[in-house]
Amino acid sequence: MSILIKNGRIITADADQVADLYINDETVQAIGKDLPWKADKEIDATGKLVFPGGIDPHVHLDMPFMGTFSSDNYETGTRAALFGGTTMVIDFILQKQGNSLHAALEEWRSRSDNNCVGDYSFHMAVTDFNENTRKEIKDFTDKEGITSFKTFMAYKGALMIDDRQMVGLMEEVKKWGGLINVHATNGDMIDYLIAKHKDEGKLSPLYHYLSQPEVTEAEASERFADMAYYTGCPGYIVHLTCEGALNAVRNATRRNQKVFVETCIQYLLLDATLYEKDFDGAKWVMSPPLRQTKDQETLWAGINQGLVQVVATDHCPFKWEQKKMGEKDFSKIPNGHPAIEHRMELLYSEGVNKGRITLNKYVEIACTNPAKIFGMFPRKGTIAVGSDADIVIIDPNEKHRISSKTHHMNVDYSAYEGRELTGKVKTVLLRGKVAIENNHCHIDKGYGKFIKRNKVEGKI
Ligand SMILES: [Zn+2]
Repeated sequence: MSILIKNGRIITADADQVADLYINDETVQAIGKDLPWKADKEIDATGKLVFPGGIDPHVHLDMPFMGTFSSDNYETGTRAALFGGTTMVIDFILQKQGNSLHAALEEWRSRSDNNCVGDYSFHMAVTDFNENTRKEIKDFTDKEGITSFKTFMAYKGALMIDDRQMVGLMEEVKKWGGLINVHATNGDMIDYLIAKHKDEGKLSPLYHYLSQPEVTEAEASERFADMAYYTGCPGYIVHLTCEGALNAVRNATRRNQKVFVETCIQYLLLDATLYEKDFDGAKWVMSPPLRQTKDQETLWAGINQGLVQVVATDHCPFKWEQKKMGEKDFSKIPNGHPAIEHRMELLYSEGVNKGRITLNKYVEIACTNPAKIFGMFPRKGTIAVGSDADIVIIDPNEKHRISSKTHHMNVDYSAYEGRELTGKVKTVLLRGKVAIENNHCHIDKGYGKFIKRNKVEGKI
């Protein structure tokens, strides 16, 4: 099937032109003014913006947690993502301590395979690095197409690895051309503060925030950067939230080290005053927690300075009933919030429309950099001849409001209820097929493909 998109303003990370786009089968065939060809379907994009499909490299779908699961499964989550212009996600496989990495891969595949509407990949979270798991790394980078390995410096006793394991894993991952992603917060300090607040009877969601002060993230980010520098392994800090942590990364650049940084849309737009709303604050209980308005400014600046390369979501929704598991104890509130559907529109409305970032920067941080850093460029993350025809068409002027009544995520509240946005996703193509049009999803679960990723070079 062929599609001709006429007269759109096509934006990539480094170009901006009004042109036609000709797509045949799954890929882009031609870009140019007044293309003379006929196609099976024609889309008039006059006055609209045409972007590459968004890539959200940080989501948790159908994730087991405390006897329950995050409420979006691979079908509802990737469909909601498509409605918001995100055509591909990277989810996390979590190794169970004591078990192999391959056992975890099989478990995650049993939930994801044939269930995705949009394209997907995985990061492999290594929670127990030992002689057996060391031998598995090469298989992931060379055969499975999974080239990034997540580590946790927090969640003591469940997911956390110590620095000895971290350095060993870095050496192994570097050897096979992979990259380490890290949740960089000081797990011992947080563990102490949680216990202290509970002892003092301080149990509301506010104390989730107060148990993870900025210094816990700044300290761990610096330590991680130092270990990455020592081993020479490419490093990527997920969901960086604050000034202190970004300063650690900035310091690393002074010795010509590149540490990749991801922030998430909520850290750019929401702040910690939301935790003062009694238990309602549980909606935003996530780790790291929301920070202060000064941190938001630091992150926007970091994007423009090239220190922050990616804006993701850490989408990990739980319904209100599930959040209530922690009604009497903040440490039992499932961590995470829904955002997969709104990242692209929020970032457009609050970033581009309000003049904080350029259109090219928008594409770079939401589409291109995730593809480059995680070994999928130029197949994904741009609009070029030969690239997958993952295309998003936005009406830059249409206003709309976010609400749990109209969103497509499987969760009964919104973190942005009532917020008005300017700019709406109208049409989305995934590998040459119309996925979203007229507010309907036209593809089914099973269309989404597992994308094998290449080795990473540690530079973009
Ligand atoms: Zn996460």
